[in-house]
Amino acid sequence: MEHLLRIEHIGIAVKELGAAEALYAKLLGSPPYKREAVESEGVITSFFKAGPNKIELLESTRPDGPIARAIEKRGEGIHHIAFEVADIRVEMARLKAEGFTLLNEEPKRGADNKLVCFVHPKSAGGVLVELCQEIA
Ligand code: ZN
Repeated sequence: MEHLLRIEHIGIAVKELGAAEALYAKLLGSPPYKREAVESEGVITSFFKAGPNKIELLESTRPDGPIARAIEKRGEGIHHIAFEVADIRVEMARLKAEGFTLLNEEPKRGADNKLVCFVHPKSAGGVLVELCQEIA
């Protein structure tokens, strides 16, 4: 049985959403299909389709937010890889038992009608991993 079912989206940290949307619209050949703010994370997101996968652009709404801090440290670019899971609580328990560090103990509400949980990059080979489950 597979646990992480597919790459649902790749999250990209950007400084200015409007400029990044124009760039990615040119790159992907299609415009974003939605913008959504996630207050709890201090971000505005913009979503593009790329075949069965998505690109999520993230702009910080606060100077001390996680996206602002990531850009300060590493500049703009790939921020996280999100995997779709069937049951986020089951996968959180499995990864915890495997020794991964979860950044939230309970699934939280993310953008695009998802429950999400992040895995600390220090425990995942330097990659910030997001688990996401569509809210039924
Ligand atoms: Zn994401």
